[in-house]
Amino acid sequence: MMYEFKASDLAEEIGVRRNTIRDWIRTGTIPAKEGPGKRYMMDVAEYIKLCDKFGRVPKVDVNMAIEVEEIKSLAEMENGNHAIDLNNRKTDSLYTDPSWADACLTCGTCASACPIAGVDDLDPRKIVRMAMFGLEDELVDSTWPWKCTMCAKCENACPMNIEIVALMRKLRSKRERDKVPGPIHKGVATCLERGNNLGIPKDDFLFLLEDLAEEMQEEGCPGFTVPVDKKGARLLVTINSKEPFAEPDDMKFWWKIFHTAKEDWTVASENWEGVNWGLFSGDDKSQKIIVGRIVDNIEKLGCEALLLPE
Ligand code: SF4
Ligand code: SF4
Repeated sequence: MMYEFKASDLAEEIGVRRNTIRDWIRTGTIPAKEGPGKRYMMDVAEYIKLCDKFGRVPKVDVNMAIEVEEIKSLAEMENGNHAIDLNNRKTDSLYTDPSWADACLTCGTCASACPIAGVDDLDPRKIVRMAMFGLEDELVDSTWPWKCTMCAKCENACPMNIEIVALMRKLRSKRERDKVPGPIHKGVATCLERGNNLGIPKDDFLFLLEDLAEEMQEEGCPGFTVPVDKKGARLLVTINSKEPFAEPDDMKFWWKIFHTAKEDWTVASENWEGVNWGLFSGDDKSQKIIVGRIVDNIEKLGCEALLLPE
């Protein structure tokens, strides 16, 4: 069971400043996490301990905390050797393992926190239950994992720490690649083959940069050039390929800031794509390759910082 609170309310309760509560959460002194809205959540037992430390009476029913601990121990006892370790899960664990059915309380807190619950019947509680009961094919064939925005509000609100976002990504990864909705898998394949999601040839890209640089000079940035493959530049700037493809002027907004701020930056002539669709399509292998290319560019050019446009 989780205790949901605003930083200001908890500050008032235990008699400290609001920023102190935020600092404690940030540094882990209070084991709380962000919840829905501008609220935080922490285990009721931790909240009670905190109140006890400051000599305050907790505002929740203490029996609630005891009840949660009993549910957790019961689940562990019933699973015997397969006891669920709520604090030490492997991210690659199979979410369709029936033993997980004991972890979900079917409380629906996840559905209450989800900003798109109800859209085409999407309901994180239902998805978790279906996964736990082995209805993997039905989930993989459904549109829900693709409608999910991966915002993690459900997971942050879940009192049993069920890894709903990892479940969604796993479901996405299990979809046959040619059945991935929209252009994102095609974009991944194109990026692997040609270095950017839309397959823009290197010469066209470099020509466009020169052309835009001339426009920048006419727009009040005398002597401006785009620093391509500049060794030792501080900042490596990656680019969303939709900009050179369809909205090239958007790149100039960034460049005007760099020019004014006298930033030391560069763009790589190859593998400059900054949008990794492997992340969205659940394709970890391709995602890693695309990230690796950016890391290679950072190392090759000796940059200190990276700018991703998304
Ligand atoms: S996944 Fe978590 S929040 Fe959702 S119903 Fe199960 S226990 Fe409750
Ligand atoms: S991660 Fe998906 S299921 Fe969870 S709250 Fe966000 S949109 Fe809803």
